[in-house]
Amino acid sequence: MRDAVIIGGGHNGLVCAFYLARAGLKVTLLERRAVVGGAAVTEEFHPGFRNSVAAYTVSLLNPAIIHDMALGRHGLRIVERPLSNFLPLDDGRYLKVGAGNTAAEVARFSRRDADRLAAYQRELEGAADLLRGLVLQTPPNRVTGGWLAALPELFKAGKLGNQVRKLSVPAQRALLDLFTKSAGDILDGWFESDPIKAAYGFDSVVGNYASPYAPGSAYVLLHHVFGEVNGVRGAWGHAIGGMGAITQAMAKAAQALGVEIRTACPVAEVLLERGRACGVVTGAGERIAARVVVSNLNPRLLYTTLVDPAALPADFLRRMQRWRCGSGTFRMNVALSELPDFTCLPGKTMAPHHGSGIIIAPSLRYMERAYHDARADGWSRAPIVEVVIPSTLDASLAPAGQHVASLFCQHVAPQLPDGSSWDAHRDRVADLMIDTVDRYAPNFRRAVLGRQVMSPLDLERTFGLVGGDIFHGALGLDQLFSARPMLGHADYRAPVPGLYTCGAGNHPGGGVTGAPGHNAAREVLRDVAHHHRAGRRECGREPRSDPGPEPGPHTA
Ligand SMILES: Cc1cc2nc3c(=O)[nH]c(=O)nc-3n(C[C@H](O)[C@H](O)[C@H](O)COP(=O)(O)OP(=O)(O)OC[C@H]3O[C@@H](n4cnc5c(N)ncnc54)[C@H](O)[C@@H]3O)c2cc1C
Repeated sequence: MRDAVIIGGGHNGLVCAFYLARAGLKVTLLERRAVVGGAAVTEEFHPGFRNSVAAYTVSLLNPAIIHDMALGRHGLRIVERPLSNFLPLDDGRYLKVGAGNTAAEVARFSRRDADRLAAYQRELEGAADLLRGLVLQTPPNRVTGGWLAALPELFKAGKLGNQVRKLSVPAQRALLDLFTKSAGDILDGWFESDPIKAAYGFDSVVGNYASPYAPGSAYVLLHHVFGEVNGVRGAWGHAIGGMGAITQAMAKAAQALGVEIRTACPVAEVLLERGRACGVVTGAGERIAARVVVSNLNPRLLYTTLVDPAALPADFLRRMQRWRCGSGTFRMNVALSELPDFTCLPGKTMAPHHGSGIIIAPSLRYMERAYHDARADGWSRAPIVEVVIPSTLDASLAPAGQHVASLFCQHVAPQLPDGSSWDAHRDRVADLMIDTVDRYAPNFRRAVLGRQVMSPLDLERTFGLVGGDIFHGALGLDQLFSARPMLGHADYRAPVPGLYTCGAGNHPGGGVTGAPGHNAAREVLRDVAHHHRAGRRECGREPRSDPGPEPGPHTA
């Protein structure tokens, strides 16, 4: 019998499998799709054209995990963009962000804003630093039992409190703002010109079905800046071969340690014995026994479809049924005969702006309107579109001279307000997205040779992302840190003994970080070591081997 069975082969499932196997556990991972990687995969979506079909750009992947899993040795190479962002504007101008020239670019719109950039970045970095320090930690958890059980959690909370206490008062104020305010309020407080506010504010609506003026949207912005590319903090880059190169390297690292990976193998049920998880039943009816079960799924999907409701506390189940899920995102991949030729910066030969994140959303007002349209009508008349053309950095994705582009579009309603199905509107909305880019680059529509279109419903069907939620649950204060996925279960342990959760619905949340997988493995190993020491029998057998050292950056 196995030590652990992992449900789902998203990147977090793979990371968790790796750390468990590294500690000596015998691990089987079961993935529903034909390929591992979850939302971080590369696929051929049009003959001869490959792309990262869902997640498309890398920054948050934790450096300690890259190191521990030796992802470089397993074929992963990440490159930086030549320019961070490019915003074509309605008045015929544009803004470029990055490449060491942001201040001069912003000064074309406001000298005052250019002068304030450095202070804004410092403030944001201060908060991002704190977050970085927490990413690989298990949050303080609400525990049952006496003071002995509560003590370690109190200690953790105290340590965190102390970290915050050591910050200067202005830094504490900034932190409070970033955790509670809207991105719009914060950016309006710093800057007066629209383009730089739009460039920074875009991060607050990515995957967040909300106006940039909704309280809490500043945290989503912060969530997008705690990463790095090859040591450059806050930068976003490209994995050569697409996001699938990350998860294929992870699969190799796990398999090298003996992890058994089975694809096209959906799990239909978590097996329980005397109230304890002790394996799974696959869709084909095979029973796979294991001492522990770890789920990589959106927690709502796990608890409402795979676990016997009678095994869950009533309050827990009721809350999980109402777990807030649903990004306002619409995702397209297009095969292009040529690069977009922007009216504001003409040219079809590769230039730095073609290799950047091209943001079509010239102001925060535009983004707010996009949200209100989507609430009322299901999608925005003038949607927010980020265009990334990875073939400008990676020739492996498209035939020579041609290109692939990711279109990451916000806002659309996860469920349409009139109750109709996304299947009835998918193509019409896809045309709208292409027309939106075409307004700024008039050769775009006719350059499209083929397209793949994913509505929120398609994201749910294809990847198991409930409501198309790219984070496995909204990143609101009510669903973060000690409350992710719920107060009392922030330690990656389910209310069912022997069941653990390792996906993005746990701290620190969504994005290709690997952190939930890493942290969940640490907690599983803690329990396995504890039971081993206690000489207990679980599901009728002894642990196979000593789990070895706990995983983490310190053990590398
Ligand atoms: C359109 C889109 C764009 C994004 N862009 C970015 C980006 O550019 N950069 C970034 O960092 N993040 C991005 N994200 C977010 C990021 O991709 C996700 O938050 C992250 O991949 C979640 O990883 P995970 O391993 O926790 O879960 P997932 O990747 O969701 O993996 C879960 C796995 O479980 C499998 N599964 C589901 N049900 C079962 C079952 N019953 N049995 C067996 N297996 C099952 C699924 O098939 C899937 O493989 C994006 C996400 C989306 C959807």
